[in-house]
Amino acid sequence: MRKNKAMAEQKVTMKNKVFDLIIFDVDSTLVTVEGLDWLARLKGKEREVADLTKQSMNGLVRLEDVFEKKMNLIRPSYKDLANLGIKYCESIVPGVIEVLAALQFLKKEVFILTGNFDPAVSMLAEYLHILEKNVISNDIYFHEDGRYKGFNNKGPLSINGGKKTILKKMIGRKKIVFVGDGATDVEAKNAVDLFVGFGGVVRRKHVEKNSDVYLSGKSMYPLLSIVLSKKEKQILKDKHRKVKT
Ligand SMILES: [Mg+2]
Repeated sequence: MRKNKAMAEQKVTMKNKVFDLIIFDVDSTLVTVEGLDWLARLKGKEREVADLTKQSMNGLVRLEDVFEKKMNLIRPSYKDLANLGIKYCESIVPGVIEVLAALQFLKKEVFILTGNFDPAVSMLAEYLHILEKNVISNDIYFHEDGRYKGFNNKGPLSINGGKKTILKKMIGRKKIVFVGDGATDVEAKNAVDLFVGFGGVVRRKHVEKNSDVYLSGKSMYPLLSIVLSKKEKQILKDKHRKVKT
């Protein structure tokens, strides 16, 4: 355990922090739910969809080969995605609220980057006080009565390498950390300054092996010790001291 921490700290030092922009995946990273699997259960398509998710998350098949198949099985309505939004808000990963509060207190920019859809993602973002302009999600289309019409199956968030393409465009003067649990997250690691794999909900060997740092505990809280500088940690300590006295 201690050895892992030391190795993680060494990698962070090598990557030269301070980080200004922290970007999170949603499913199985900020929340304990895998959204499409949850929707599939709602629709009685659980087994077929879970099988496809597992294959794509482990990097065995390409995302674009399975995403459309899954959406055609699930065909989620607007109401289904609103229900998923409620489920998201009830299923926050331990430590996420505290981590986001600390990052926001330190005036870090916090983003969400996900292949999942609105209104579920925007409901979660609002619950977590993440600005609407900092939410990058996939596009879905509904009929006027809310029935499923289709999704952006050619968009970057529906294909392998898409998160990487988006993150590359965000790199400027800012130092970026990306936190995620899946194969489409870790494949973006060269587009950011530090990739943190999160295994608190689902531990994926492929991701663990390829992450700069891997969090294998259930809580997101240890992320703070990885992404904050000594000075920033001191500012947080001083804040807590003030609150106590
Ligand atoms: Mg995920």
